[in-house]
Amino acid sequence: MKRKSVIVWFRQDLRLHDNEALYDALKAGEQIIPVYVFDKRVFLEKTKFGFPKTGKFRAQFIIESVQDLRNNLRALGSELIVRVGKTEDIIFEIAQKAKTSWVFCNRERTEEEVEVQDALEQKLWSIGQEVRFSRGKMLYYTSDLPFPVTHTPDIFTQFRKEVERFIPVREVLPTPTKEDFQPITLAIDSGEIPSLSDLGQEPILPDARRALDFKGGETEALKRLHYYLWETDFIQEYKQTRNGLIGGDYSSKFSAWLAQGCLSPKLIYQELKKYEAEKVKNDSTYWLFFELLWRDFFRLIGKKYGNKIFQKGGTKLEYDADLKENKQLLQIWIEGRTGVPFIDANMKELALTGFMSNRGRQNVASFLVKDLFVNWQMGASYFESILIDYDVCSNWGNWNYIAGVGSDPRENRYFNILAQAKRYDPKGEYVKLWLPELKNIPADKIHYPEKLSTKEQATYHMHLGEHYPKSMIKMEKWV
Ligand SMILES: Cc1cc2nc3c(=O)[nH]c(=O)nc-3n(C[C@H](O)[C@H](O)[C@H](O)COP(=O)(O)OP(=O)(O)OC[C@H]3O[C@@H](n4cnc5c(N)ncnc54)[C@H](O)[C@@H]3O)c2cc1C
Repeated sequence: MKRKSVIVWFRQDLRLHDNEALYDALKAGEQIIPVYVFDKRVFLEKTKFGFPKTGKFRAQFIIESVQDLRNNLRALGSELIVRVGKTEDIIFEIAQKAKTSWVFCNRERTEEEVEVQDALEQKLWSIGQEVRFSRGKMLYYTSDLPFPVTHTPDIFTQFRKEVERFIPVREVLPTPTKEDFQPITLAIDSGEIPSLSDLGQEPILPDARRALDFKGGETEALKRLHYYLWETDFIQEYKQTRNGLIGGDYSSKFSAWLAQGCLSPKLIYQELKKYEAEKVKNDSTYWLFFELLWRDFFRLIGKKYGNKIFQKGGTKLEYDADLKENKQLLQIWIEGRTGVPFIDANMKELALTGFMSNRGRQNVASFLVKDLFVNWQMGASYFESILIDYDVCSNWGNWNYIAGVGSDPRENRYFNILAQAKRYDPKGEYVKLWLPELKNIPADKIHYPEKLSTKEQATYHMHLGEHYPKSMIKMEKWV
């Protein structure tokens, strides 16, 4: 029997399509009350290493995503109740007032998110109500996997082989329509969506060099999906272009929308299959699916190992004793003043836009840990703050992996930064984009300014130590 009213607590699932919590709620209640809370702990507190937990780029993206969700719900005759505060207290109050019996949400699996959902559950039990959990993050349902989560293979390739050919990705759930919603009769203020400054953030000065003008929300996410596949066919070349560094189109840029749940991975999969049937099926169309498998893999590893992914020894419980909590080195890395152009260009892009390519992320992470010997948790914590597409399991999982404390212990993931720079930025265009002080240096010399003679420095109007820092480490080791 349907309940009179139920709450849908939107979290990192800011969409109407393929949203299981919303779908389940609409089946269970006559009237649904959608709620989103900007949790003060997430938006106003700091990480263990002193960075804002949610930096301005992501905060802005979330504000836009919540606004878009509200617009879309209003268009269907519903509303999104928005609050700023402590989630469990706010939802509890609304639940009491609405006399609902259930709060629907998509389940999260990492510590801080679980604490909130557990606290809410406890509070609701005290008044005879409960949380109904659904799933909304992954391509695969854990219950469809051929192993229990605790037996997720530690090696990605093994995981991939066990799932990709045997386990079907489930159908995308339908997007609700006007007929599914009843207007909210509860006398409740819908609440204002906070601004960036309400969340304690400085305004963003858009940088013309940014890879993409990311705009939050399901509407933009669906546009991007359509653009990358159907409008431009960029998907057909994805495998060849995905290691690019400049612009919006070398990779899908789905990550920020995926992270806030504005885009469902199952929808991407469905569109890929449609694209393969109607246009082209090739290595590239497969490869986007392959990358989405990495996302599922890290989430499962996060579930399997719990808090270990945040600890210095990672899932391996061992770490390099040389890694130090050196704040000074960390700051130089953050500001892009290491004197290694490929690292500095990437770190500048990140600081000024909140985004960095996958190739860049691998290099700067390796450099921090394996060349500067700084505790990798500090780098992961900075990424948590600054990334527009921060996703707890993808971020900490990738850092575990590069720091060599992940569960896949096979190879030493050391990146020769000079070789990488020459390979992926052969003309030095990326470095020149973010480090204009190096713009006169020819391509064959740009990645190794240390080697320039005094005469060359004068010719290129770039004096080491004056216009650009001397390298912090001996670059000869990469030659
Ligand atoms: C140190 C480090 C930290 C990272 N932190 C994050 C993070 O916080 N959030 C995040 O979404 N990705 C993270 N990544 C993975 C990857 O860099 C980004 O997903 C990718 O750069 C986003 O751009 P895109 O959407 O254009 O990717 P595409 O190349 O178009 O890939 C499509 C999608 O596949 C998934 N994907 C691709 N590569 C990976 C990967 N290595 N691990 C997990 N998922 C992947 C993402 O969801 C991505 O949107 C991190 C990688 C490293 C090395």
